[in-house]
Amino acid sequence: MSTNTPRKPMPSALTFDLHAKCSTTKARASTLTLPHGPVPLPIFMPVATQASIKGLTYDQLKQTGCMLCLNNTYHLGLKPGQSVLDAVGGAHKLQGWDRNILTDSGGFQMVSLLKLATITEEGVQFLSPHDGSPMLLTPEHSISLQNSIGSDIIMQLDDVIATTTPDRVRINEAMERSVRWLDRCIDAHKYPEKQNLFCIIQGGLDLELRKKCCAEMVVRDTPGIAIGGLSGGEAKEEFCKVVDTCTGLLPEEKPRYVMGVGYPEDLVVAVALGADMFDCVWPTRTARFGNAVTKNGTFNLRHISYANDFRPVDEDCPCACCRPTEKGGLGITRAYIYHLAAKETVGAHLLTIHNVHYLLSLMGSCRQSILEDRFPAFLREFFRNQYGDKSNYPAWAVGALRQVGVDLMED
Ligand SMILES: [Zn+2]
Repeated sequence: MSTNTPRKPMPSALTFDLHAKCSTTKARASTLTLPHGPVPLPIFMPVATQASIKGLTYDQLKQTGCMLCLNNTYHLGLKPGQSVLDAVGGAHKLQGWDRNILTDSGGFQMVSLLKLATITEEGVQFLSPHDGSPMLLTPEHSISLQNSIGSDIIMQLDDVIATTTPDRVRINEAMERSVRWLDRCIDAHKYPEKQNLFCIIQGGLDLELRKKCCAEMVVRDTPGIAIGGLSGGEAKEEFCKVVDTCTGLLPEEKPRYVMGVGYPEDLVVAVALGADMFDCVWPTRTARFGNAVTKNGTFNLRHISYANDFRPVDEDCPCACCRPTEKGGLGITRAYIYHLAAKETVGAHLLTIHNVHYLLSLMGSCRQSILEDRFPAFLREFFRNQYGDKSNYPAWAVGALRQVGVDLMED
């Protein structure tokens, strides 16, 4: 591996203004200004797989307050394909979305969706899901696709392996290869003045490998930095250790994105550990199973007990779904979702609006409390609302927050 090679400075198409740091934890409140407007951090980014969030129109997505959503390069590269993206002028125009887009590299999709993917130094080899012909996703091809998509943030191709793999040699190889692939991505990137390339820290659950990877990635000076390879079934304690270790080594003046995180308690703990950006398909996917994510926990509205429950999905929630009709909302009740859930997709759409809104406003509340330096009190209230009695609090969260100076068990 080339070690700490000095490279020419990379242009950046973003500004990052750090407004406040929590005086107890490592939490930060900032504004990330991208080519399609300012994004308040911390933020949750909903995932619009096929250039649409299932069940939501872009107007509805805008109403949730979303300033930055995620598109999958793999899906857009297959359909409509690169030539259509080039002809239309990128994914913003294709979708009619004038706010920011982040795209993944496509590698994770292949490794997770296609069992036949194999990784070599050249790239990710896979068989086309269309006709079974052999295909190769290289770092150069991934960046070329993302250049055609025109996303505001583009991700490097990385060598993704299961976090739980016991093979230390393979974990080390994946980490080192991810650094080499970053260099190829930097060289291939055609529009650094209008698209921001983020590197991805790898190294599995091995903190020494993570530290080594942080040093290698930081010196390459990309506009933003992601922590990858997590949320793959590892213990939450391990997840927290990796995030905490990495944020401790990353430069303060750059946004930090922890990939694949979407449970409310994971988000607030990761914010406390110094992370700024998150994405996950869970809140939108779980809506399709009738699950409402709320300040009092996640509950399934397909259960018979909601048949006569005429309260809003989440009481006092200002989203378009929950807000009463006299205040311009839809005034949707739990009973109505219960009624729809079995036979109508509209129930899933309504819950998707609520779930996305909930996570965006959860991050907004984190941000406000950091700005006012009352984030520890926010954390206490959050866990009280989610879990009720302290005996129900997850031990991993209590432990992780204790490491950054907040003891949830104290009053
Ligand atoms: Zn709501």
